[in-house]
Amino acid sequence: MTTPGARDPVIQLCRVVKTYGAAHSAVHALRGVSLTIRRGERVAILGASGSGKSTLMNVLALLDNVNQGSYRLDGVDVRHRTEDELAEIRNRRIGLVFQAFNLLPALTALRNVELPLVYSGVRRAERERRALEALETVGLDGRAHHLPSELSGGEQQRVAVARAVVNEPAIVLADEPTGNLDSVASRSVMGVLRRFNGQGRTVVVITHDHDVAAFAGRVVEMRDGRIVDDRPQVAPGEPARAGVGGRTA
Ligand code: ADP
Ligand code: MG
Repeated sequence: MTTPGARDPVIQLCRVVKTYGAAHSAVHALRGVSLTIRRGERVAILGASGSGKSTLMNVLALLDNVNQGSYRLDGVDVRHRTEDELAEIRNRRIGLVFQAFNLLPALTALRNVELPLVYSGVRRAERERRALEALETVGLDGRAHHLPSELSGGEQQRVAVARAVVNEPAIVLADEPTGNLDSVASRSVMGVLRRFNGQGRTVVVITHDHDVAAFAGRVVEMRDGRIVDDRPQVAPGEPARAGVGGRTA
């Protein structure tokens, strides 16, 4: 069935199981997770510590493999791929933002943002132009030549967001992106992610924080390695979007 506004799936997880360890010491981090996220959605994955959020993020980001189930990313089945192929798919289709920013300390903001373009083989002049443009969209073009140590936490995270989007990925995945930030910096980082989503990009934020989840148009809740709730969320003053979240309101 086609619903008005329904869009291509970017993420299709089907009955994914991830277990760490074996036998009596096995930890069942994901116990059969099925999830479809469509282009242009803004999703929060919410859950308490230990519920399996980071495991899910690592699976979605192709940083970890699964024991069972299937995963299609942007229409591509990612099973049976070599490490090199996975790295290539990850670099082109996924933008990652981590709690700890993960910027390279010896590189300026500009060089950090350029990295995904270096891996994609983009030439230097074009890299600089696109990296500066990405820094401009997060309001930090004036800080392009600063090192991470010369930036505040909120600024570092906005640089990380610029790096995540510079390659125009199909999806931006952020794991607890505001976990190390005060409330002012948190709002600014979430504002940037929201703006990207407003431009039609797909954004998934993983969080244990209900305030952060309030940014999303859809909240997927995890508990003990399972999805226990999946609901649309309408922000004040924003019209509901039919079809988003694979449901009709
Ligand atoms: P969350 O991000 O929601 O806090 P995680 O995905 O990090 O949850 O963890 C889910 C469960 O899997 C927890 O019980 C955790 O201890 C376990 N776990 C996560 N990573 C590993 C690992 N590399 N080895 C063993 N157990 C792990
Ligand atoms: Mg986690």
